[in-house]
Amino acid sequence: MKNLLGGKGANLAEMCRLGIRVPSGFTISTEACTVFTQRGKDEVRKLIEAEVLAGVAFVEAEMGKKFGDASDPLLLSVRSGSRASMPGMMDTILNLGLNDEAVVGLALKANNERFAWDSYRRFVQMYGDVVMGLKPSSKEEHDPFEVIIDMVKEQKGVQLDTELDTEDLKELVKRFKGLIRARVGREFPSDPWEQLWGAIMAVFESWNNDRAKLYRELNDIPETWGTAVNVQAMVFGNLGDHSGTGVAFTRDAGTGEDLFNGEFLINAQGEDVVAGIRTPQQVSLEGSRRWARLALVSEEERRAKYPSLEELMPEIYKQLLHAETTLENHYKDMQDIEFTIQEDKLWMLQTRSGKRTGAAMVRIAMEMLQQGIIDEKTALLRVNPDRLNDLLHPIFDKTALEKARPIAHGLPASPGAATGQVVFFADEAEEWVKKGKDVILVRQETSPEDLRGMSVAKGILTARGGMTSHAAVVARGMGKCCISGAGAVHVDLKGRTMTVGETVYEEGEWISLDGSTGQVYEGQIPTMEAQLSGDFGALMAMADRYKRLAIRANADTPEDAVAARNFGAVGIGLCRTEHMFFEGDRIVAVREMILADDEAGRRKALAKLLPIQRGDFEGLFRAMDGLPVTIRLLDPPLHEFVPHEEAAQRAMAKDMGVSLGKIRMRVEDLHEFNPMMGHRGCRLGITYREITEMQARAILEAALNVEATGVRAKVEIMIPLVGTVREFNAQAAVIRQAAAAVFAERGTEIPYMIGTMIETPRAALIADSIGAQAEFFSFGTNDLTQMTMGFSRDDAGKFLPDYLKLGIYEKDPFQSFDQKGVGLLVKMAVEKGRSVRPNIKLGICGEHGGDPASVEFFHRAGLDYVSCSPFRIPIARLAAAQAAISG
Ligand code: PEP
Ligand code: MG
Repeated sequence: MKNLLGGKGANLAEMCRLGIRVPSGFTISTEACTVFTQRGKDEVRKLIEAEVLAGVAFVEAEMGKKFGDASDPLLLSVRSGSRASMPGMMDTILNLGLNDEAVVGLALKANNERFAWDSYRRFVQMYGDVVMGLKPSSKEEHDPFEVIIDMVKEQKGVQLDTELDTEDLKELVKRFKGLIRARVGREFPSDPWEQLWGAIMAVFESWNNDRAKLYRELNDIPETWGTAVNVQAMVFGNLGDHSGTGVAFTRDAGTGEDLFNGEFLINAQGEDVVAGIRTPQQVSLEGSRRWARLALVSEEERRAKYPSLEELMPEIYKQLLHAETTLENHYKDMQDIEFTIQEDKLWMLQTRSGKRTGAAMVRIAMEMLQQGIIDEKTALLRVNPDRLNDLLHPIFDKTALEKARPIAHGLPASPGAATGQVVFFADEAEEWVKKGKDVILVRQETSPEDLRGMSVAKGILTARGGMTSHAAVVARGMGKCCISGAGAVHVDLKGRTMTVGETVYEEGEWISLDGSTGQVYEGQIPTMEAQLSGDFGALMAMADRYKRLAIRANADTPEDAVAARNFGAVGIGLCRTEHMFFEGDRIVAVREMILADDEAGRRKALAKLLPIQRGDFEGLFRAMDGLPVTIRLLDPPLHEFVPHEEAAQRAMAKDMGVSLGKIRMRVEDLHEFNPMMGHRGCRLGITYREITEMQARAILEAALNVEATGVRAKVEIMIPLVGTVREFNAQAAVIRQAAAAVFAERGTEIPYMIGTMIETPRAALIADSIGAQAEFFSFGTNDLTQMTMGFSRDDAGKFLPDYLKLGIYEKDPFQSFDQKGVGLLVKMAVEKGRSVRPNIKLGICGEHGGDPASVEFFHRAGLDYVSCSPFRIPIARLAAAQAAISG
């Protein structure tokens, strides 16, 4: 039915069928729109004319009024409504049927002259804009109707529309018509039928306006669908104290509580409820009492000034209650309904599935399941996995947020709410936090050196960088709020200030970040800890029963691993060992290794790192006791481990007892034009086999150590950035030799696997040859995406926003996996890998592992697991269940 009648039309028809009173009307089907597009205005009119006449006659009979009648006119609303919701595509025309005679009749009938003239001026304005095309002629011009309204208000010396009286409204109608005559070159049509046909054709026409076309392209909506046209009798909530209008939800859209709730206003029109000029009243008595408690309104005052609909119009309230129950039971989902009361008669204007918070989404799904309204699969499909974010991170106090001043906007890189004092240097962040302060670390961009500062900060704000920039990836891994790429923020490290527009913020000033929206605010906003409700746990357990994919975590530290396990990870899919290199003394040893002139010198430095790494791995194995842990060998280019700022270089020279010149020279040596495609990944282990040796040794010694204490270590060693079989074999040989040495020293062995990342296109292309050697593949879709697309994940921020705006890419391919392109490489590698090793373990550990649409693709591609940052694990679990149910 939706295909033919559009979403709105179908729901209106459905309400009629359910015996719910809606203003009578009819829907012109989407097929008529197709005829309009293909054969034009005249043809379609011929085709539907008789039916439209009959439709209007039907509405006349139902409403007891006549269209075009001068003494008691039937007025109509004309609205578009396509199969898929296309918000904002087309305007609505209300009060159609009014003219200079009918307005007098309406005024008499309603006993309210101002109401009639206000309705008339709104109609002329809407019709002039939508149907007659009187719009601003340039970007700079204001809406010409609003210009006239402002002029009349100014002449009168008033500010609000509501302060205009009947005479002013009459003047407006006159001036509007004059404007139309002058600018469009035609008279405003006074014949109601001419008005109606004009409106119908304008709705059809709007299907092909630029806005709608672009929207369809972006949302894959076929042009052939067309839009329906809903023609309905107008009902008025502003006809006096026995009329009103309101909006209600069948359950609480904020918390999900099964409580009918909503707001209404007596003697008002739809937009008055949302406009916030008058204080709306609550529909139910209970809701009204709750509202009064929050608004600090006494019970006496509440009853006198803001009574509920339940108290004020008990009979209407009963009907409304009946309607909401019927609608929710019918659609089996929380409904958002609009209603109007016209002179003690209730009319439903609209029903649709209500928007809700993540928390409400979970609670409503689980309660509807318990209430027997929906089944398990439906409950799982009802929750948008991304919205689980809302339940996992601290959130801002809602009322405080409404009052806060937004100052800049960036990418919502890692969700959560953070409030703190601005600090520009990572080490100072640590110092401030030690003194008990809350800080926001603000950087141009972050580098791995900032890790400690990032980990102690409440939140991170960077002026540059995309969704997979270092700051973003690390912050997500930590579950820490982060906004990246906030271009309007200018960081002046010397002056220790950040500037946004004209405003300068000094070090120590308070700002707040909403990592879920990317919004930066001035000042301090109180936060609240997120609560993991019982429903949330139950939903997750249910998801696990349906999903096929296993969900692992990208975790680098024992703390991350513990968090991941709490969120339900069944292993570590990626430990980026380099993240362990930055803390405390480690960075000193790492730098010693980098500065060493020969292999002997490097081995000396690596010997210092060995016990530290071993300790890290022991912690990981313990945290994941019995679950697989994939540890990746060193990956980033070495320049990331040395400082690039002179002050830091001086400090390093002093620490290490070498000259500044030597450090500068080494830093210069390490410089690469394109480090992402340079000396990194297994290329490091091939030139410096001693690094791989040390890491393999640390991993296996750690495994043996924890096993000796009764912990089960399931070891998977992963080689990064492989592109040829020989690379893999060379590194695998180093690992095996190290293993043999450790086992011989210890007199005991432990099983371990050696696998590889598939993250260069070539590795995917020759996955059969590699699969003959490697025991597992883990798709590194961050690198695989950048190398296949041919643009860097660190620099894409410069042009991707434009690409997205222009629709060249629908989504950022670093966020949502490019199924049509890079996906082919994954599919091919899966097939090739399995063809030579049927039981090969296949996973993915790029950032896409936590993106629901991507998870669905990896399910279909037949992978065994996805690995994502700890805070996205519940999201991936649910997405995997949904993929299994829908697949
Ligand atoms: C990848 O490339 O997808 C990956 C997981 O590795 P990294 O992001 O560390 O390069
Ligand atoms: Mg990679």
